[in-house]
Amino acid sequence: MTLWGGIEAGGSKFVCAVGTGPDDLRELVRFPTTTPEETIGRAAVFFQPYAAALTAVGIASFGPLDPRPDSPTFGFITTTPKAGWAQVDLAGAIRRALGVPVAFDTDVNGAALGEGRWGAAQGLDTFIYLTVGTGIGGGGMVNGQRMHGLLHPEMGHIRVPHDRERDPFAGICPYHGDCLEGLASGPAIAARWGQRGELLPEDHPAWELEATYLALALVDFICTLSPQRIVIGGGVMRAPSLLSRVRRRVLELLGGYVAPLAGGVDSYIVPPALGDRAGVVGAIALAQECEQSRGREGGHEVSSVSIR
Ligand code: ZN
Repeated sequence: MTLWGGIEAGGSKFVCAVGTGPDDLRELVRFPTTTPEETIGRAAVFFQPYAAALTAVGIASFGPLDPRPDSPTFGFITTTPKAGWAQVDLAGAIRRALGVPVAFDTDVNGAALGEGRWGAAQGLDTFIYLTVGTGIGGGGMVNGQRMHGLLHPEMGHIRVPHDRERDPFAGICPYHGDCLEGLASGPAIAARWGQRGELLPEDHPAWELEATYLALALVDFICTLSPQRIVIGGGVMRAPSLLSRVRRRVLELLGGYVAPLAGGVDSYIVPPALGDRAGVVGAIALAQECEQSRGREGGHEVSSVSIR
């Protein structure tokens, strides 16, 4: 039997699962993210009974992180402000504990891979996945490859036009103040309006402002990356009518310039199809991609994707 392990490593919780895909998860567990030692230890204990059957484990993690297989710090969470987690060798710790190959990427690149294989972006080779929640993150695929480069995209930290008369709120990003995450994440909404987004009524001005910021960002991504589709999820996107407001604002801001969008924005900007399992299922997809890469290379110990 061939099984893969997936770890969705989030800043507030870890989700671990064993299986072959979204319709075949043999076991799944969630636990809070505490210290690295305790949290990674719990993940290792979960996978231990399956270790002999596991072909590889994929980790889709919060970051910033190092996804470059040829880097000495591959598999590390790097400069995160999350206490205790900076410079932690997450992938290495799991690989040493279980003795299996480990694939490693951002949570959003993992989710994009899963949505591409089984979800809302099937059949596409260039698309982005954006999550709007406690933070804002984006990843995706370009020409069938996960988006990497210098490190990985940081789509949540782009700068968007900020009209301080309409919105005097300074923003909450500790690095940039009023970057996209600083203005439009869940905590930014709560800080600006003094109430969590879930408690704001549908006709509250918060939502048109939120839609504007997200649409400004999406238009930048559309014009720079030319994605065939945008998958957008996360807790903030559950607000009623927010997605439809974002679609409308994107069309307005593009001004008819990107012609193929005009006919079908509803099928162009879409919610994730894998729901709250997108992260961990994406991690399993990472593990499978890692194994496929090994296969192509004839089973050598080192893979171009992720094994050091
Ligand atoms: Zn920022």
